[in-house]
Amino acid sequence: MSARILVVDDIEANRRLLQAKLEAQYYTVIQAENGPQALEVARKELPDIILLDVMMPGMDGYEVCRRLKEDPATAFIPVVMVTALSDTEDRVRGLDAGAEDFLTKPVDDFALMSRVGALMRYNAVASELRQRQANGLGGGLDLESTKEESDQPARIFIVDDNPRASARLAAVLREAGHTVVTLAEAGTMGDLSRLGVDLMILSLPSKSFDALKLCAHFKVTEATRAVSILLICDPEDRERAAKGLEIGASDVILTPVDKQELLVRVRTQARRARYIEMLRRRVDKGLELSVIDQLTGLYNRRYMMSQLHQFMQRSVMGGRPVSVMMADIDHFKSVNDTYGHDAGDEVLQEIATRLRENVRPMDIVCRPGGEEFLVIMPETPGDLACAAAERIRRAVAMAPFIVGRAALRIQITVSVGVSTITGEQDTIADLTKRADQALYQAKTTGRNRVESTAA
Ligand SMILES: [Mg+2]
Repeated sequence: MSARILVVDDIEANRRLLQAKLEAQYYTVIQAENGPQALEVARKELPDIILLDVMMPGMDGYEVCRRLKEDPATAFIPVVMVTALSDTEDRVRGLDAGAEDFLTKPVDDFALMSRVGALMRYNAVASELRQRQANGLGGGLDLESTKEESDQPARIFIVDDNPRASARLAAVLREAGHTVVTLAEAGTMGDLSRLGVDLMILSLPSKSFDALKLCAHFKVTEATRAVSILLICDPEDRERAAKGLEIGASDVILTPVDKQELLVRVRTQARRARYIEMLRRRVDKGLELSVIDQLTGLYNRRYMMSQLHQFMQRSVMGGRPVSVMMADIDHFKSVNDTYGHDAGDEVLQEIATRLRENVRPMDIVCRPGGEEFLVIMPETPGDLACAAAERIRRAVAMAPFIVGRAALRIQITVSVGVSTITGEQDTIADLTKRADQALYQAKTTGRNRVESTAA
C-alpha cells in the first residue's frame, strides 16, 4: 500500500529522519517547514496522511490541525500529532484540535509504521465512501451525517484471558460511552456475529489461546471479516504484532496501555468498521435498484423471471406445486384518459399496496410492466391460488381509490388469471401463457373476476 505523506516540522533534521524511515518503506514524502506552508501544501497535494509537529514557531501544530479540519478540502486527511512530550494534556489538546492519532518523539520505527499502516487501512475504506458520494452513489448520504453516525459509541468485544487487564480496558471504554463485552463475560467466543461487534480487541500475550490464529480465523470467516481487530502487544513482542497486521489486524497498541491512546485507536477503528458497514448497505441498495420497480416498490420483470425460474425448478424437484396469478386493471386506459397519468400512477401504487396487504409473506408480488401484476405463489395448488386471487379481487373492488389533490374517488377493478405448474416439462413461458389465457377469459366474460386454467 503506497501512500503520500506530508511531514511538517520546523527542524530540518527531524523532517529528514522521518523521510528516511518512510521512504525505506516505499512511502512518498512531501515536506513543509511551518504552519502556513503545511496548509498550502496540504490543499494543493492532498496527501494521504499528515505527520504534524506540535512545537513550531508562529503557527503551532494545534492551530494547523484546527485549520486543516475546518477546511472541507482537507478535513478528511488523517492527522498524526508528533509531540516531544508524552504529556496527557498535550495529547488531549491535539485530539480537541481534531487530530486522529499521535506519536511521541523520538519517533520509534515500529510506532511510526503501525500508525501509518493503520491510517492507510482506514483511508482505504473512507476514500471508497467519499468516492461514491462524489459520484452520486451515496444515496442521500452526506459527509457530515456519515461522520456523526460513525462516531456513535462502538460495540467492542475484548478477547483477553487476563481478567484484570481485561476489566481495566473495559472500564476505560465504558467510561467513554462504548458498549463492551469481555471474553470472561461472554463465556465463549462462539457466536460473535450475533453480538454485532464493530471492533475486537485481541490480546497477543494471552496464554490460553493463540491470538494470531484467532485473528486469521476472524479474517477468513464471512460473519466477522468486517470487524476491525485492534491488537494489544507487549513491547518485546513487536514481531508477532507485525505478523498480526499482515494477516488482517487493523491496528496495534503497546502495553502498558495508555488510556488516551486506547480511546483514539478505538475511535478510528470503530469509524472504519462503520464505514465498511455503510458501504455494504450502499451495495445492497444498488442491488435493490436493479430488481425493484421504482413506481410501486414491487419486484420488476427481471426479478420475477429469476424467481419463477428458481421456484419452478424447486417445484419439479420437491414435487410441490407453484401457482401464479396475473392481475390486470380493468379499463385502465380510461383512468389515464379521464384523470391524467399522475392519477393513473397513483392507482398503480394503490393496487400495489392492496396486493401486498393481501398476499402471504412467502408470495412474491411483481409488476412486470404497465397495468399488469403477477404474484408468484410457492407451494400453492390451483384451488388455493384461486381463493387467494379472489381475496385480492375483492380487496381491490371493495373500496374506491382516492387519488389526486382533488381527492377523486375512483372505482377500480381487476381481472385475474390463475395457472399452476403441471409437471417437469412445464416452462415459464407455458405457465405464464396459461395465466394470460385465463386472464383473457376473465376479461371477455365480464371483468372483475377470477378465471383459472385448472378449473
Ligand atoms: Mg518543532
